Parts: sequence; structure tokens; C-alpha cells
Amino acid sequence: MLTRRLLEPFAVSALNTPLESASATLLAAIIRETLVLGGSACRPWYPSEGLSESFVDPAVAHLRRLQGEVHCGTRISGLDVQGGRVTGLKNGSDTIAVGPEDKVVFAAPSPVARSLLEAHLPGFSAPDAYESIINVHYRLSAPVKARGMLAKVGFVGLVGGVAEWIYLKNDILSVTVSAANRYTTWDNDELIATIWSEIRQAVGPVLVESLPQAVPPVRLVCEKRATFAATPAQDRLRPQARTRLENLALAGDWTQTGFPSTIEGAIRSGTEAIKVLGL
Ligand SMILES: Cc1cc2nc3c(=O)[nH]c(=O)nc-3n(C[C@H](O)[C@H](O)[C@H](O)COP(=O)(O)OP(=O)(O)OC[C@H]3O[C@@H](n4cnc5c(N)ncnc54)[C@H](O)[C@@H]3O)c2cc1C
Repeated sequence: MLTRRLLEPFAVSALNTPLESASATLLAAIIRETLVLGGSACRPWYPSEGLSESFVDPAVAHLRRLQGEVHCGTRISGLDVQGGRVTGLKNGSDTIAVGPEDKVVFAAPSPVARSLLEAHLPGFSAPDAYESIINVHYRLSAPVKARGMLAKVGFVGLVGGVAEWIYLKNDILSVTVSAANRYTTWDNDELIATIWSEIRQAVGPVLVESLPQAVPPVRLVCEKRATFAATPAQDRLRPQARTRLENLALAGDWTQTGFPSTIEGAIRSGTEAIKVLGL
């Protein structure tokens, strides 16, 4: 009961990896900082609107206050390296010069890191196996009103089906399914219909208005490389923030943070990167 209702859903959500192949070390790191510390460390946080308002906009505003410039849509396509340091960042045919006092934190995802860094960092390794996450958003004809606990918290976790988390957001019912590589053989319509029937069964009884039997307008988003697979083998491929190049540090949830691929891990990686660069 404890495994089925708590440990398994907790592990699959935190690691985005099936229990059978996931790393116990990475799970232990999450358990140490949540369940072991008690209820106040287990409070779920989720954005009231989207991730942009919660994370991206405040981060960009903070960088601008520090006189930083943010260039969106500027893909780094290579690095110039001379004398053990990065001296330029290539953006197509342009090169951004990296001066003697400048430091570089490389925070692009692991496949990009492998393609751009392998040539400059002999023996470089990074995770190369991924797990997907599926989100399905159903739009209803009116805002969804719930009763009881669901009205208070706005989301509920399910076990025993495909849907794992259901969120109520005005007239949208959103569902998250982690470690979703196991559903690659399902077609989207099958997933959408199955999840809708689970929502009706699990959430329908506590809603003020009953849910329609027919699937409402819907959008399914499958992020194929949502996170690296949190297996012991993939964990061993994660590099440290410090590199052999004096002014280059690595950041990103895929670097060796001791955490699985999470926002918390990404934040810690950034802190570590600026520490190793002495910033
Ligand atoms: C659907 C989904 C749901 C998730 N849910 C959760 C959750 O509930 N809780 C949680 O903690 N984590 C969650 N995660 C994981 C979390 O989003 C990641 O761990 C986190 O965003 C990683 O941050 P990052 O800065 O390492 O990488 P990213 O957020 O991937 O940032 C990398 C950046 O590099 C940029 N980039 C790529 N290539 C280049 C290039 N060549 N040049 C310049 N820039 C480049 C990209 O555009 C991107 O902006 C989820 C992930 C997905 C996909």
C-alpha cells in the first residue's frame, strides 16, 4: 500500500523514470530533502499561471537590473578555444568575442553540450538517454468548480491508471503523465480517451457540474526528451561543473547535481557553476 500509493508515484514523478530502472541514489536525495524533513518540506509548488510569469520573467528582469543582456533566439553553434580558455562563442557566421576577464557558463541541454563540447573537452560525457512527459489539456465550456479538498488544493494525484496528476485551472483540466516512454506505442486518441475516462471517474464525483461524456476540445503535448533517464548508468555520465578550460563552467539539470532532472537541480547547478568560476 505504501509503495503503490506513495513511494511509486512519488518516485516516478520526481525521477521521471520507471521505478524498475531508476537510480535509488537519486531518489534518496529527493527523499532526504522532502519526506524525511516532514510535511512543510513536502508542500507542492506549482505556477498559478505559467512558467514564464513564475520563473522566466523575474529571471530576465533580474539580469537586466545587473546590466545583463538577454538575446533570445541566438543559438550558439560552436566555441573558439585557445590556450586553455574559451575566446569566442559562435552564432552561425558571427562570433561573440570572449575577453580575458570574461567567464562562460554553458547551460544548454546535454545533447547540445555533447555536440559543442566534445571536441574541446577530451573524455567529455553527458547523459544520452531520455524519458518523455505527456501533458494533456482539456478545455471545458465553463470554469471547473470542485467541492471539498479538491476545491482547496486545485489538484489531485491518481494511481492505477495512465493519468498521474490532474490540475484544475479555470476552464482547463490538465493532466501530467511522467516516465511516458512506456506509452510510445499508444496513439494520441487512445491516450486522450483513456485519460478523459479516468478524469471522469476520479474527479467527476467531486465537481459541482458533471463532466461531459464526450471528450472536450483537447491538446496533447509530448515532450520526448523531457529529462534524462534517471538511471544509475545515466547518472554516471553527468559531468561536474568545473571543466579543463579555465573560464568555462557547465550548468544545467544534467550536470552532476546529485539531484534528478528538476528545477531544483538546475538552480543548484547554476550556483555551482558561478562558484567554480569564482564569480
Ligand atoms: C513537460 C515537462 C515537465 C516538467 N516538470 C517539472 C516539474 O514539475 N518540476 C521540476 O522540478 N522539473 C520539471 N521538469 C524539468 C525541468 O523543466 C528541467 O529540469 C529544467 O527546466 C532544466 O533547466 P535547465 O536550465 O538545465 O535547462 P533548460 O530549461 O532546458 O534550458 C536550456 C536552455 O538552453 C537553450 N539552448 C539550447 N540550445 C542552445 C544553443 N545552441 N545555444 C544557446 N542556447 C541554447 C534552450 O533554448 C533553453 O532555453 C519538467 C520538464 C518538462 C519538459
